[in-house]
Amino acid sequence: MQVGPSPSGDGPVPSSRRGPSDRPLTERQVDALDRASRGQTHKQIARGLGIDVKSVGKLMTEVFRKLGAQNMPHAVWLACGAGILQPGRRHGDHAGFAAHRYRGEEPCDACWEGERAYRRERRAARKTNAA
Ligand SMILES: [Zn+2]
Repeated sequence: MQVGPSPSGDGPVPSSRRGPSDRPLTERQVDALDRASRGQTHKQIARGLGIDVKSVGKLMTEVFRKLGAQNMPHAVWLACGAGILQPGRRHGDHAGFAAHRYRGEEPCDACWEGERAYRRERRAARKTNAA
């Protein structure tokens, strides 16, 4: 059985084939792209994912390669078109948290934070009303 896609040589596979690759993005890659699409810097993404900034760069390179994207806006546009990112979807508040739950997902960090803030506010409001 022959190993490798190129029968004529040992060079790298030509990158002429543009467009979405058949390998889907990993959950972490989607998460990073989603954060980037919401304006987070690599530093913020690194903190959110619990990895270092260098790893975020590598993650993004892989995302671009898989999507066939030239840059970040292109990657976001392609991901929206492919249904990987949901443009109307909210994160970081109670509605975003509820949407995760509705889809049977574990809410992302931003939504957990938003949900906690929401619950604090509700508790504070109840206390005020009771007084
Ligand atoms: Zn979320």
